[in-house]
Amino acid sequence: MPPYVPIALPGASPSRDCPICPRLVAFREEWREREPGWHNAPVETFLPRSGPAEVRLLVVGLAPGVRGANRTGRPFTGDYAGDLLYATLKRFGFARGTFEARPDDSLELTRAAITNAVRCVPPENKPIGAEINACRQFLTPTIRQLPNLAAIVTLGRIAHDSTVRALGAKLKDAPFSHNGAHDVAGLRIASSYHCSRYNTNTGRLTEAMFADVFEGVAEFLGVPPA
Ligand code: SF4
Repeated sequence: MPPYVPIALPGASPSRDCPICPRLVAFREEWREREPGWHNAPVETFLPRSGPAEVRLLVVGLAPGVRGANRTGRPFTGDYAGDLLYATLKRFGFARGTFEARPDDSLELTRAAITNAVRCVPPENKPIGAEINACRQFLTPTIRQLPNLAAIVTLGRIAHDSTVRALGAKLKDAPFSHNGAHDVAGLRIASSYHCSRYNTNTGRLTEAMFADVFEGVAEFLGVPPA
């Protein structure tokens, strides 16, 4: 397969050296020194090869994993969280090809895009409030740059809350719950526990629970299973 080349969305792509969050900049610099061959930069939204017009579903995750997207440069690629996410997206008609946890594998998104509420890797996978709020300046235009978007799946409470805020709604009007659904600003927002290894290992999220969320969204969008 040709190498993965992210497609930039105008106004929605932080620079490689985005200086806005000092703690995350310091962490990024630390990893650039430790692993100079890694991506170690804000991670761009993953889009279908045909570009943003194909996207009807946006998946919003939390942030890159240090050995996942921070290493490879493609969301949910390189660590465990991608295994369940991409298998589920394929099952419900939102991806095709073979996911091999490498950005040059044959996996492609169809009708879907994937982004993160926070584009830079945070220490211990835990962004602080100021970082979540700051990076919304990229999440909001990401949503606006998808002209045929109809639904968003939010992975975890932080991604959910930041997405609801990005849409200008109040959290009390669209509270997070696993497999909950709300209509916000003309979009269907479906929420799920994050597909992290911790959540699946502890049984907080099972494959069946995760599938239920995407089955509901696929039905809403009228997408037939793959
Ligand atoms: S998390 Fe977002 S706003 Fe903060 S430095 Fe990274 S790209 Fe910039």
